[in-house]
Amino acid sequence: MIQIRHLYKSFGEGDKKTVVLEDFNADFERGKITSIIGGSGSGKSTILKHLIGAYKPDSGQIIIDGEDITKMNAEGMNRVRKKFGIMFQSGALFNSLTVEENVALPLREHTDLNESTIRIMVKMKLEMVGLRGAEHLKPAQLSGGMIKRIALARAIGLDPKIVFYDEPSAGLDPISIGVIDKLIMDLSRKMWITSVVVTHEIPSAMRISDKIIMLFKGKIIAQGSPQELNNSSDPRVIQFIKGDPDGPIPFSKSQKDYGEELKEMSAN
Ligand code: ADP
Ligand code: MG
Repeated sequence: MIQIRHLYKSFGEGDKKTVVLEDFNADFERGKITSIIGGSGSGKSTILKHLIGAYKPDSGQIIIDGEDITKMNAEGMNRVRKKFGIMFQSGALFNSLTVEENVALPLREHTDLNESTIRIMVKMKLEMVGLRGAEHLKPAQLSGGMIKRIALARAIGLDPKIVFYDEPSAGLDPISIGVIDKLIMDLSRKMWITSVVVTHEIPSAMRISDKIIMLFKGKIIAQGSPQELNNSSDPRVIQFIKGDPDGPIPFSKSQKDYGEELKEMSAN
């Protein structure tokens, strides 16, 4: 469904230049859940932003459903964007709008459906995330887990082929994480949605993923099924899966430190 080929991306110019992605390649299979995991500053958000067309690479290709989006103009991108839904990290709901109005947004924006049809579609989407009846609540009245589920209902508004999830379990309690995990799996298995999940919630990634791509400083250090990653003998992979603070990957590093290292790498 999605292929990333020879992607290069740097930020800044001259001696301030930071190379974040260097010949990055990845495949996301149709109907499957692929998670991208990695520490802070490893490049997860940068990849996601390229996939949704928010960043243009320095070079390389991103082929979504057979089309290279890196060469696309705004018109083409708008057409491709209808194929995917995005569940943003914060939920990104409009606080002044009701749940119904929030979920209806993409339907109002991208379709000519009449009001009563939109209302029925919103009900269906809310039903799918287990929140039918919440139509008239405002985001301030919802728990963190409910906000994510509403954001998901909105993301699937146009029956997308692909859903991008940005840290879907960030800030949630374990029970709410379990609910979101199950929803992601249900949508993938029942509706054959291709799911790309960026997360640092390793147990969740291990539960839901068909494939996991593990990043370290913009490079893939491991990829495969959760089982394959579990069986890995690479100390970095083992450390990551166990969440061990001691090991080859320095967890205490800030994004800024990575930036410095990447600068050194690109200078050499
Ligand atoms: P993650 O999402 O895995 O935490 P990011 O993709 O946000 O990592 O960042 C990867 C690296 O790219 C970091 O070193 C970060 O500082 C750098 N980076 C990301 N976006 C920008 C930007 N817009 N300008 C400059 N540097 C950036
Ligand atoms: Mg990020």
